Amino acid sequence: MWRGAAVRLLRGGGAGSPRAASGAAAAQLRRRLESELEDIRGAGTWKSERVIASRQGPHLRLAGGGAGILNFCANNYLGLSSHPEVIRAAVEALEKFGAGLSSVRFICGTQSIHKDLEEKIARFHQREDAILYASCFDANAGIFEALLTPEDAVLSDELNHASIIDGIRLCKANKYRYKHMDMQDLEAKLQDAQKHRLRLVATDGAFSMDGDIAPLREICQLAQKYDALVFIDECHATGFLGPNGRGTDELLGVMDKVTIINSTLGKALGGAAGGYTTGPKPLIDLLRQRSRPYLFSNSLPPAVVGCASKALDLLMESNAIAQSMAAKTQRFRSKMTAAGFTISGKDHPICPVMLGDARLAAVMAEDMLNRGIYVIGFSYPVVPKGKARIRVQISAVHSDEDIDRCVEAFTEVGRKHGALP
Ligand code: PLP
Repeated sequence: MWRGAAVRLLRGGGAGSPRAASGAAAAQLRRRLESELEDIRGAGTWKSERVIASRQGPHLRLAGGGAGILNFCANNYLGLSSHPEVIRAAVEALEKFGAGLSSVRFICGTQSIHKDLEEKIARFHQREDAILYASCFDANAGIFEALLTPEDAVLSDELNHASIIDGIRLCKANKYRYKHMDMQDLEAKLQDAQKHRLRLVATDGAFSMDGDIAPLREICQLAQKYDALVFIDECHATGFLGPNGRGTDELLGVMDKVTIINSTLGKALGGAAGGYTTGPKPLIDLLRQRSRPYLFSNSLPPAVVGCASKALDLLMESNAIAQSMAAKTQRFRSKMTAAGFTISGKDHPICPVMLGDARLAAVMAEDMLNRGIYVIGFSYPVVPKGKARIRVQISAVHSDEDIDRCVEAFTEVGRKHGALP
């Protein structure tokens, strides 16, 4: 072994220095990738990542300077990502249960904390059972293929999250795509889908680009009329929508009509990572047997389980955190509207400041950062052409002063760039 290491050192490929693969195929691949990357830059859709040098929270320090940045672009809706009790629970779980399981669940990877968390999630949503995944992306990738066959049909909102779209691609059911939140179109598609054995309507509970909430009451009525099941992705709802933060189904009074919920532990519920499905017990039992991202991927690390479990405890003890987030959202939305901005959606902490022009969104976001406020501009192809925006996300741990500073900065920057008179 030492001879191999010595030869590598002589060739200049010692530990730490990158090695370029040799050969014509590797050279061709490199040229193709470089040209593709150039195209992305040329199209103006390059996504760069700002490096944070502190914990996630309302006030950040960016690597290479930039302390005291006010953060308005995380999904840390309840501010639990750096909550002291959540961190303590993670440390305790790490010490007691170790770094990780080195195994998938069904071989040697289920600990008591995984079972406890699944039971807690099911109790939180008032469902029969729950199953954990490494992410909600995995939960969405795993459910449709396991549940639906070529005899069945799935009806999906056209603006559903990419992970739902990918999950549906993987299944062999008949696929219908209805226009965004358009109940007439959904009804027409449901009528067409009567020929199939089972119909599943799949929708985001809250849509992350517009902050709009699916018309679940109407969806559930149609589902009842046409004998369909309802699936919702609650990544942007779990923990804070509804009187007790149970989600969109609680907010709209249809907890007993939605059959399946997928959601994440990586946003409001502590923000570490992980996802889940909760619903009828036989469905969860089937997913444990058939769902590929569950069967063929490592168990959630104990520290991550500890975070989510504590976050749920905090939410089940009191709805004060969710209420505080709702009040701050209201403050931001009403002050920005009074200042002359158009904010899309209603009552949701995702507050898209609609600007229309892609360049305007980019320069305003940059100028906001110059004033110490971190927000992100979104433009085509992430959102439709002509609908560029800056997406602001409110958290329970923003203070009223933080919100007011953000509105003041928006007003200044909006006037400077002609978005406001
Ligand atoms: N579904 C929706 C609506 C999301 O916004 C996201 C995350 O961006 C996901 C699923 C994936 O969640 P996770 O980060 O747990 O994979």
